[in-house]
Amino acid sequence: MSKLSTVEDKNAKGQLIFAATCDLAGKVRGKAFLKSDLERRLKRGMGWVPTNVLINCFDGIGDTPFGALGDLLLIPDQAAAVNADFGTYSEHFMLGDIVTLDGEPWDFCTRAILKSALARLERISGVRLISAFEHEFQLKRDMGLIGEGFGRSGFEMQRPLCETLMQQIHAAGLSPDSIMKEYGPEQYEVVIAPEEGVRAADAAVILKELTRSTARFHGEDATFTPIRDPASVGNGVHIHMSFLNADNTPATYDADRPYGMSALTGSFAAGVLKYLDAIIAITAPSVISYLRLTPHRWSAAFNNLGFRDREASLRICPVTAKEPTDIARQYNIEYRAADAAACPHLALAAVVHAGCQGIEEGLPAPQPTEEDISLLSVADLSKRGFVRLPETLDGALNRFIENDVVRGWFPDTFASVYKAHKESEIAHVADMDTAARCQLYESVY
Ligand code: GLU
Ligand code: MG
Repeated sequence: MSKLSTVEDKNAKGQLIFAATCDLAGKVRGKAFLKSDLERRLKRGMGWVPTNVLINCFDGIGDTPFGALGDLLLIPDQAAAVNADFGTYSEHFMLGDIVTLDGEPWDFCTRAILKSALARLERISGVRLISAFEHEFQLKRDMGLIGEGFGRSGFEMQRPLCETLMQQIHAAGLSPDSIMKEYGPEQYEVVIAPEEGVRAADAAVILKELTRSTARFHGEDATFTPIRDPASVGNGVHIHMSFLNADNTPATYDADRPYGMSALTGSFAAGVLKYLDAIIAITAPSVISYLRLTPHRWSAAFNNLGFRDREASLRICPVTAKEPTDIARQYNIEYRAADAAACPHLALAAVVHAGCQGIEEGLPAPQPTEEDISLLSVADLSKRGFVRLPETLDGALNRFIENDVVRGWFPDTFASVYKAHKESEIAHVADMDTAARCQLYESVY
């Protein structure tokens, strides 16, 4: 039987699987193949092109060291397969790894970069990371909702969308937790349970793609753009992290240490804060990300660890459990200086490497803040070791490029390629005013 007749026999529904990578732009790109070819594709993948990594979020191409040369393979991974059935049609995709023709991980494969960060964490400390990405998004249709921050009516108006989305998340093998009408106009927040290792970043990609598809199915258009309107709030991505020992006991909490941070958590957090200004170009990587990272929007503006403070870059989250063993399992720290323009794999890799650096340097636990530190004078901020995070992507990119330690966590040419990619994005919006930039970004994220 020919491949084509297989397609016709099944009336084409669900016959194509999209092999995907989440790239440096945080975009999900790839190619589709016939389901009947799955076995072969799982081994040999799809042809992929090095210069694709320079394609920015607006489809411009940064200065490429690869030119028209070279070949790679995008190998779909069945462990990251999604089959979203919307009744009249279905969508099927698999995240995958980019490898060289020899089968080696490619330097710019974002999953490989995260795997290497997680391997470093396990090597130096014996722990594994579990994490959960919390996402905020907005529907582009103006529903004319006023007074519906966390509102029931605002939720009910989109109940069908929210219910389909939670079903699809469940069907994708993830654990939906909660969904709500967030504070901002047409803003919603969806939360899933933590996952281990690379799967947590895969889950973040899958969640965003399912949200977009579900919104389309319901005649809506969802955007995860970092900020739509600087006069309002942004859409954050908050990464909750905790650690497991080799025997699966929790390693994040220690009742006998200040604020319950284990020594490991303290050093990890200190590393994240120490290198935050140099990794933020990766976790908040768009030009408009820096409109969100300003005080009094419940995002993050300084390199501080907050105790239950939603304006801190890192936050010690509240625990509701009462039993010590349950507290230890629930205890987690949250990285808040990320947004959905970032590839979740790259963002998590950068945070994990910074944490590892803190562990390797034996940094002491940071002193958590419980106040509005944006009210401190510059002198007081610096006396306490706080810096204002970069206020532009350009500035953030320079901090990354200039930091030998941070550059060294990534493959040799990663920083220069990332810079070229981001410079082309910056150039694309250079002549636009803020409103035009926000409008363009919301159309691509
Ligand atoms: N919208 C805020 C942000 O940009 C977060 C609000 C919240 O704490 O949920 O990160
Ligand atoms: Mg929120």
